[in-house]
Amino acid sequence: MGYLREYQEWVERFDRERGWDLVPATATCTHLAEEVGEVARAVLRLSEYKRDEPASLDELKQELADAVTFLVKLAYSFGIDLEEALEQNRQKCEARYASVKAGRHEIERFLDRELTELSRFRRELDERRSDDARKR
Ligand SMILES: [Mg+2]
Repeated sequence: MGYLREYQEWVERFDRERGWDLVPATATCTHLAEEVGEVARAVLRLSEYKRDEPASLDELKQELADAVTFLVKLAYSFGIDLEEALEQNRQKCEARYASVKAGRHEIERFLDRELTELSRFRRELDERRSDDARKR
């Protein structure tokens, strides 16, 4: 038995002792969304999107753990073995993306599209600055 299955069993036992297993799945989904939002906030802060609010890796680590815990809770609520589901997903990904060369080609195309888009935004911003300067 792997650690994830052990963790899932611990969460279910922990929740049952407290009656928290009776929380409806819809409410668990809301808690999960809240935790995913906290992950996003930590990532934005770590990416210096919000320079006045620095984050720490410890904060992101904690929020990731919170989010995974609510995924684990949803899994046990529906009798799903998350470890088994992840193993099936690993096999699906390895079959679907077997070619490393194709994967590299895909990331190159993605980065090229991003660069094209960012260049377009940069040109647009420069044009607006020029227009503003002319108006003054
Ligand atoms: Mg949290």
